[in-house]
Amino acid sequence: MVIDYQQSDIWFLTGSQHLYGPQVLQQVEANARQIVAGLTAAGLPLRLVVQPVLTTPDAITEICLAANSDRRCAGVVTWMHTFSPGKMWLAGLSLLRKPLAHLHTQFNRDIPWSTIDMDFMNLNQSAHGDREFGYTCSRMRLNRKVIVGYWQEPAVQAQLSVWMRAAAAWQDAQHARIARIGDNMREVAVTEGDKVEAQLRLGYRVNGYGIGDLVAHVSAVAPSEAERLCREYDQQYAMAAELRPGGARRDALVEAARIELGLRAFLEAGGFVGFTDTFEDLHGLAQLPGLAVQRLMADGYGYGAEGDWKHAALVRAMKVMAHGLAGGVSFMEDYTYHFHPAGNQVLGAHMLEICPSIAAAPPSCEIHPLGIGGKADPVRLVFTARPGPALNVSVVDMGQRFRMVVNQLDVVASTEPLPKLPVARALWVPRPNLATAAAAWILAGGAHHTSFAQELTVEHLEDFAEMADLELVVINDNTTLAQFKRELRWNDAYYYLQRGLR
Ligand code: MN
Repeated sequence: MVIDYQQSDIWFLTGSQHLYGPQVLQQVEANARQIVAGLTAAGLPLRLVVQPVLTTPDAITEICLAANSDRRCAGVVTWMHTFSPGKMWLAGLSLLRKPLAHLHTQFNRDIPWSTIDMDFMNLNQSAHGDREFGYTCSRMRLNRKVIVGYWQEPAVQAQLSVWMRAAAAWQDAQHARIARIGDNMREVAVTEGDKVEAQLRLGYRVNGYGIGDLVAHVSAVAPSEAERLCREYDQQYAMAAELRPGGARRDALVEAARIELGLRAFLEAGGFVGFTDTFEDLHGLAQLPGLAVQRLMADGYGYGAEGDWKHAALVRAMKVMAHGLAGGVSFMEDYTYHFHPAGNQVLGAHMLEICPSIAAAPPSCEIHPLGIGGKADPVRLVFTARPGPALNVSVVDMGQRFRMVVNQLDVVASTEPLPKLPVARALWVPRPNLATAAAAWILAGGAHHTSFAQELTVEHLEDFAEMADLELVVINDNTTLAQFKRELRWNDAYYYLQRGLR
């Protein structure tokens, strides 16, 4: 379950051919090593592993097969230092199952005006060698990222880093197990979906468990363990007086700690990286898990409420993408609007389950009634999200494909206190504005649940969507409804044709 970038590599493949002779090929290899060393020194999130220069179809096919079967390999970066005829790549690329980034760079930055001769031109010809490779990939309709620029430029390194983060998330998804504890909230459409199709297309496995499977783990928690965890809460959060040692509701905090320990044990025993629950199926649990879910999300677990496994998997994927970055990732829900003439805003929250990784200040730990579900009052962390740029992302099942919807947001600080609101929340203004963003979101069928992220950008999601072959629609400053509607219709036609009978 732990997110560990040390377990993943990206392979660096340099294409060439034998036409140039051994001396040039030695130089190509030395230059490739220098580029990889330079990119590594710049601080990439995943280890970049240089591979021998590829000069034959067999070598290319072998390296693609090796990449497929190497569990550490999360993707391949290709670069044609010289001209590498595209037909040599057909067999290998048709077998490659790992994400592909094409780095269109050049060993030298500048043209050496006074000394340039034909030997130099023959060695440094990525400008057309990479076009041959590009044609080959496009002829094969391969999804990939194309990064253009000098390899020492921070903007180029940043694009590669973003792609690597998406590749780490994709690799994680291929082994991910999501536990669906209870089914979905009854009669809800958007939390349903085709789990077989999700496993085929997106990798992760979703399997259902009865609430009793969780309750058994909660019941097995020793009272001393729950007491110890409560002392951890005391240290970490601003505790409401009634939850402190000797407080009137301390027993409810102990119960919340038992639920956390039981849920954690259940998830660890099953090797899960994400989970769902539902307030409609809590038989045997005293409270709806609130604090437990919040803390598990903060540890990197994906979560979806009301049986929403697609968003549990998405929150997990975005947690992997954002690993080590300053901003947080949380399950989120568009809850209620501020339709004020001076500026429209959205208040996002959930019944309880918002991740404290997005908090502006240390959370307070509180207990309040929950007017739904008929259970004891649940303990929860209460806080407000940090102001700044953010994204809301949703994945929905459109019947014959999955669609990802991304909206850029600006999280703002509330000018008014919210003294009666007993849940964690975020207040934002969607781009380009609430009216256009919400209309576009609704036309795209985006869910009321989202994965909310502070440090990730549209580029992270775009790279991930390419790897997953997901339909992606983005709502941002450039969105107009007329264009957006056309895009949805075109996408319907495109994906219908692209899918065929597969
Ligand atoms: Mn919900």
